Amino acid sequence: MTTAERIPVAEDLFRWSHGSVELIGSRCKACGTHYFPKRLSCSNPDCKDKELAEVALSRQGRLYSYTVQGYRPPALFKMEPWTPYAIGLIDLPEGVRVMGMLTGSALEDIVIDMPMELTAEPLYRDELGRDVMTYKFKPVASGAGAA
Ligand SMILES: [Zn+2]
Repeated sequence: MTTAERIPVAEDLFRWSHGSVELIGSRCKACGTHYFPKRLSCSNPDCKDKELAEVALSRQGRLYSYTVQGYRPPALFKMEPWTPYAIGLIDLPEGVRVMGMLTGSALEDIVIDMPMELTAEPLYRDELGRDVMTYKFKPVASGAGAA
């Protein structure tokens, strides 16, 4: 089996670092507020400085809420083969709530507040034979502990 080249579905959302996936966010140098996706300026109204630095966000968080995408979205979103999937909101320790597709669990086994960790999976293969990847969240393997 050959491994196809992997490319992210969008620039500046996530990257591979030391073999694992990480989300690219921003942290305000003055007030410490985190953002995802990364931003150009802090939007905290009490913040005076507003200068942001790029940071990698935590790979684990808790599932705040989710919904199941049961019908195929418009063509702008590409996924082959198509199957219904869950989209969740994950609360990260930095105080950021990140939306992402969920994986690694049957839809009926998803539970609010379950610990989730970041991963990446292919959405489809492009015309150049590359796997177009997106970040997703999967349940933290029980008993595995934080790596
Ligand atoms: Zn700020």
